[in-house]
Amino acid sequence: MRNKSILYILIVLFAGASVEARQIDRIEPLFWWSGMKNPELQLMVYGEEIAYYKPSIDYPGVYLKSSVAVESPNYLILYLDISEAEPGNFDITFSRNQEKISYTYELKQRKDSMTDIRGYDSSDVLYLIMPDRFANGDTTNDQLPMTAEYTVDRTRPGARHGGDLLGIEQHLDYLEELGVTAIWLNPVLENDGRGGFYHGYFATDMYSIDRRLGSNEDYLRLIDKTHKRGMKVVMDMIFNHIGANHPWVLDKPARDWFNVSPSQRGNHAKEIFYDNYASRYDSDVMKYAGFGIDLNQANPHVATYLIQNSIWWIEYARIDAIRQDTYPYADYDMMREWNIRIMEEYPQFNIVGEIWTEYTIGTAWWQKGSKLNSGKDTELKSVMDFTLMSIASEIFNNKSAPNGRLQKLYTHMCYDFVYPDIQNVLRFLENHDTDRFLREKPADLHAYKQGLAFLLTIPGTPQLYYGQELLMYGTKSAPGGDGNIRLDVPGGWPGDTENWFTPEGRSAMQNEAWNYLQTLLRWRKNNKIISEGTMIHFQPNQGVYVYERYLNGQSIIVILNGANQEVNLPLSRYNEILRGKTKGTDIITNRVIPLEGELKINAKEVLILEM
Ligand code: CA
Repeated sequence: MRNKSILYILIVLFAGASVEARQIDRIEPLFWWSGMKNPELQLMVYGEEIAYYKPSIDYPGVYLKSSVAVESPNYLILYLDISEAEPGNFDITFSRNQEKISYTYELKQRKDSMTDIRGYDSSDVLYLIMPDRFANGDTTNDQLPMTAEYTVDRTRPGARHGGDLLGIEQHLDYLEELGVTAIWLNPVLENDGRGGFYHGYFATDMYSIDRRLGSNEDYLRLIDKTHKRGMKVVMDMIFNHIGANHPWVLDKPARDWFNVSPSQRGNHAKEIFYDNYASRYDSDVMKYAGFGIDLNQANPHVATYLIQNSIWWIEYARIDAIRQDTYPYADYDMMREWNIRIMEEYPQFNIVGEIWTEYTIGTAWWQKGSKLNSGKDTELKSVMDFTLMSIASEIFNNKSAPNGRLQKLYTHMCYDFVYPDIQNVLRFLENHDTDRFLREKPADLHAYKQGLAFLLTIPGTPQLYYGQELLMYGTKSAPGGDGNIRLDVPGGWPGDTENWFTPEGRSAMQNEAWNYLQTLLRWRKNNKIISEGTMIHFQPNQGVYVYERYLNGQSIIVILNGANQEVNLPLSRYNEILRGKTKGTDIITNRVIPLEGELKINAKEVLILEM
C-alpha cells in the first residue's frame, strides 16, 4: 500500500515536471544562410521564461557571441558569429538547472547567383496591386479561424473581400499582356487584427504571409512565375509600426521597444528634418505617433531584427525591390543603416521610400546623394513624386480654363533639378492612399490619355495602380472612404456578373483606354530614349506643352494640347528639337504628322512622335 503511494507521488511529480517543461515557441529568423557578407546573426528566441535559461551551441564555425535578456523573461536574443559556418542544422541548447531544451536551427547555403534579384529601374513600369481587392483565386481561405475576429464581406468597403495571391497568379497573363514589367503588392504579411485589416499595414508576424492571402510557399511561387515572365516583384514593408496583436505588443520585450509620443495624435510634420524652425515637440510627435503601435528602431535589437527581416525576405523569396511605408517616421540612422546593409548584400537591389511631402524639394532631400542634406546621407536610392500626383488630376481633368493648366506641369518639371538621381524617382498619378486620377466617371478619354502619355514619357520610373487601365474612378472623401479607391476588380471573384479582365467584359470606352495603355507600355518597353534620354521642354504656348526626349541621335517629341480648343501651333520656336526634321510618326495611331510651318492639334489631344 505504501509502495503504491510512493509510485503515485512519483507519477505526479513526473507528470508535473513534463507539464512545467518550457519550450521554444519560435526563433526568428526562421532560418538563415551561410555565405552572407555580414558574419553576425541575431536570433530572437520566443519561449515562456526563456530568459532564465543559458544557451549553448556546439557546431563548427558557429560562435555564440552574446545572449541578451530583455525586460520580459519570455524573450532571449542571441548574437552569433557565423562567418566560418558551413550550411547545415545545429542544435541550440537552453539549460536551466537540470533542465535542457534543444532547438534545431538551420543554416542554408546562400544561392551562388543573384541574377534573379534585379532591382527595378526607369526602364520598368510598376503596377501596384492591393491583394485583397484584385482577384480571389481561392475562396477556401476567405474566412479563416484567426485570433482576431473578422468577417469577409464584399458589401463593406472596410472589410476583407477575399482577394489573394493565387488570384494575382491567375492573372499574370493579363498583366503581361497589358505590358507592365513589375508588380508591387501592398503588404502581404500576417495582419491578425480585429476587423481583418485587409490593407495589410498592421503586421502581426513579420515572417509569415497572411494565411488569407496564401502561404509563404504561395508567395514564392507567385514571385517565381512572375520572374519567369521577365517581370519583377516589389515587396511592401513597414518598419514604423506594427499591429496591436503582434506578440511584441501583447508581451512587451522592453519598455524602449516602442516609442512614446507626447501626443497620441500624430502631426505628420515631415518637414522637421530640414525645417530650420522645427520644435522638439513637433519632431517627437511626428516620429512617435500617428500610426498606432510605434516601433523604436533606435533600439539596436529592434534595428537588427528589422534589417535581418528584410534580408531574409530578399534571400528567401527573391524579391527585386522593397517599397518602405511611412519612411520618414522611422528612426533616421537606423533606416540609413538598413539601406547600407541591404545594398552590401544585394548591390543591384532597389528601395523606394514613401516620402509624402508637398514640395519637390522636400522629397529630393531624402534621395541618396542629395546636396540639400547637410547631415548624414539617407542612402535611400528611390523616392516618390507625390507632388506630381497631387497636381496631375486637376491639371489634366481641367475643362474650365480655356488654355488649360499645363503651365503648372511645366513648372513642376522645372524642379526636377533638385533630385540627385531623376531616373530613380517614382512617378504616379494615383496609388492606394490617394483619390483616383479620375475623380468621377469619365465622359471622354482626354485626361486619361494625356495623363498616361505624360507619365510614361517623362524621366523617372512610372507606377500604375490596379484598375487605372479599367477607368476606375473615385475619391476618398465620398461615403466609403478608402474603399472607394480600393474597389474589387469585377471578374476577379467567382460568380461576378461582369468580367473586366477580358475585352468582352469591358465597355467600349474601357477597351479604348486599355488598348491605349497597352500600346504605350509595349512601346516604352526597352525604349532607352525614354528610360535614359535627356529632356528639353518649352513653356506652354497657347496651352500646348511640347517636350523632347533625346538619346544618341534619336528623339521623341511629345505634344500635349491642354486647351479647350483646336490650336494652330507655329513650329518655328521648336527648331532646336525638330533638328531639321519635317515629320514625325505618332506611336499610338501610326499617323505621319507633318511638322512644317504650323501644326494643327485638336483640343486636349496628345501626340507622341517618333522623329
Ligand atoms: Ca481568397
